[in-house]
Amino acid sequence: MGFTKMSEDSAPKDKRAETGAGGGLPADMNIPADAGLDAMMPPPDKPTEKKPLTLEPAEPKKPAAAASAPKAAEKSEAEAAPSPTLQQGLPPGGDVKNKRIGDRLVEQGLISPDQLKVALYEKQRSPKLLGEILVDLGFISSATLSAFLAESTGLQQFDPKKTMLDPAALDLITKKDALKYQMLPVTLDREKNKAVFAMADPYDVVAIDKLRQVLPRGCAITTLVCPPEVLADTIHKSYGVTTSIDGILKELAGDAASAKINLETLSEDEAYSHPIVRLVNALVFEAVKMGASDLHFEPEENFIRLRFRVDGDLITAHTLHKEYWSGIAQRLKIMSEMNIADKLMPQDGRFNLNVGGREADFRVSSLPTVHGENIVLRVLDKSASIVPLNQLGFSEHNRKLIEKCLSRPEGIIIVTGPTGSGKTTTLYSMLNEVNTPDVNIQTLEDPVEYSLGLIRQTHVREGAGLTFAEGIKALLRQDPDIIFIGEVRDKVTAEQALKAAMTGHQVFTSLHTNDSFGAIPRLVDMGMQPGMLAGAIIAAFAQRLVRKLCPSCKVAKPATPEECKLLLYDQHGEPLDSDNPPTIYHPGGCPECGNVGYKGRIACVEILYMDEDMDNLIASGAHKSELKKLARTKGFKSMVDDGILKVYEGVTSLDSVVKTLNFADRM
Ligand SMILES: [Zn+2]
Repeated sequence: MGFTKMSEDSAPKDKRAETGAGGGLPADMNIPADAGLDAMMPPPDKPTEKKPLTLEPAEPKKPAAAASAPKAAEKSEAEAAPSPTLQQGLPPGGDVKNKRIGDRLVEQGLISPDQLKVALYEKQRSPKLLGEILVDLGFISSATLSAFLAESTGLQQFDPKKTMLDPAALDLITKKDALKYQMLPVTLDREKNKAVFAMADPYDVVAIDKLRQVLPRGCAITTLVCPPEVLADTIHKSYGVTTSIDGILKELAGDAASAKINLETLSEDEAYSHPIVRLVNALVFEAVKMGASDLHFEPEENFIRLRFRVDGDLITAHTLHKEYWSGIAQRLKIMSEMNIADKLMPQDGRFNLNVGGREADFRVSSLPTVHGENIVLRVLDKSASIVPLNQLGFSEHNRKLIEKCLSRPEGIIIVTGPTGSGKTTTLYSMLNEVNTPDVNIQTLEDPVEYSLGLIRQTHVREGAGLTFAEGIKALLRQDPDIIFIGEVRDKVTAEQALKAAMTGHQVFTSLHTNDSFGAIPRLVDMGMQPGMLAGAIIAAFAQRLVRKLCPSCKVAKPATPEECKLLLYDQHGEPLDSDNPPTIYHPGGCPECGNVGYKGRIACVEILYMDEDMDNLIASGAHKSELKKLARTKGFKSMVDDGILKVYEGVTSLDSVVKTLNFADRM
């Protein structure tokens, strides 16, 4: 259905195609009403009979529409007329603007010159915008007009069905002003001083002036285009109701029936304004704004606990009344297209939304427990960007090894670690490093987490028969140099990956094992011959994320005797002298880190590089411990070594490292 389709299909396309501008229909029109965020957009661009002009035939019009953008830009320069982005200055407004929009609609054949004359005549007697008048007269459909505006300005379209509004932004202007100026605050980020607004007419100077008055100084505004009646409808719905979590909870407390209603039976309008629906929206919004990677909805015997995972740690965000659980669970299941009738079997689903101006994918899983269904949402932030390899905090030792690995043109580079250990970030950064125009990189992923330029990314659909194993076969026929396989889970995939490595490809992949040495036995378990593995693997990485100390408030202290025992060696690898303890850092607390003492995370990484000696040992079927012994003689540094180095560097605390890594043999 709708959500899934969007998230899968839109990834590789450019933004414009995604917004459905330029004569094509918005791709997301088929979102079912029960998806709840409401179908407020007008029906797909099917003009009624009385409307003489339509975008159809869409195909032949497209080139014209595309070509008009640069033309419009030239023209606007010549006339010193409006520029498409607010930052670049504002239009002088009035008639110039009307003429321009009107003329361009005529140029593109969307309305006739006569229709424009009629509309301009009407305009003299009406306070309405020219676009609105054209729509009122039935000369153009509002969806077509909005698509045209988005196309000609290069702005994205606002889609209320797939956007969560920021309650804090709504307070910026009153409902009355929102309706008067035809604009709706979508999000406000005070920290970055950025705001997103949906507007019916991005050229409306008066509205933009009003905006400048209410926004903080120097705030960067991003405008989204929206058909006027859709905007008005959204304004009515958004302002009519409480959107803050506390407010909604208060409302629910005074209205016991609301919590128990079957959400499926609600009409579209009711679903939009129902407090449970608003509550779920507000909770998801809050979590994403906090930078949470996972949301845990946990029913207990008498209450529901909601915990967010932020920077690797679970924090209890809310405790809610148990009475709301069936409603919340049902709502989450409707959004992620699960079977709401089935409460006894584990299920999984997904949906995608624009939260505060960011595109986010949510993967949802439910698991029945004795107190009801436990539901976990994993957030995949599509707007997250790839971190350059040299900014990931690798040690000098590891950086050199990575360079060596990447320079080997054939073989497998495996990154291991549990879920949430930052494997994907490391893999993408490496891929980004080898991504040059003279190589062909193809990926198989589930799901595609980041989109990379120049790289052909394929989304594995196990359910639809496109498995990793099948995918690699198809992918190898596409003449790739470098292949990224999201994860090796079974024998067939492992075999294919190995085959690819042995036929001259560089293969990147991930495995679930505890440490780098675990990669070999794991592959042998899957049915690979040790003799085949030897020589085919470039290196096995293992990593864990530890918390980074807030640089503004970290506290230096000499290590205690207990801490010295854990540290074992000094910064230069010499045994520690506990009479002369080294200085290490501890978390403090300041406004910058929200009094936590930590900010962000960094990976502790070990790299098991396979040279000829290692290969020979592997081929002989040697045990893990023998591999470890040999690696040590070759200067192997474990995750613990890397962690302690980061402790000495003051990047992290010993506490955080001990909590995350295995220190059992030092205790
Ligand atoms: Zn701090």
